[in-house]
Amino acid sequence: MKVTDAEADALSRIRRRRRVARRSLWFLPAVPLVFFLLDVAFDSPEPKLIGGAIVAALFLAPSMIHAMSACPRCHNLFYYTAFWGNPFGTRCRHCGLELPRTT
Ligand SMILES: [Zn+2]
Repeated sequence: MKVTDAEADALSRIRRRRRVARRSLWFLPAVPLVFFLLDVAFDSPEPKLIGGAIVAALFLAPSMIHAMSACPRCHNLFYYTAFWGNPFGTRCRHCGLELPRTT
């Protein structure tokens, strides 16, 4: 099935979100280290809360934005159905629209 220009643009955006989400995984091993350092450095819990907000911004937000990507063809979530999902799949879970390898 032919992909329109608008769909190609949206697929390019999904691919970019996917790339950012993958890169955000690099922050995951730093989470225990950050909390340990904040725990050692400060007695109050506020720095840990701030550290948690920073971790959320660096790791969770890109992952959530990626996971909530909508398919440009069927307008459902690209990676998830009601019961199953794969955030690094290459096809829409609903209509089968495929992410191109390079955009
Ligand atoms: Zn779709």
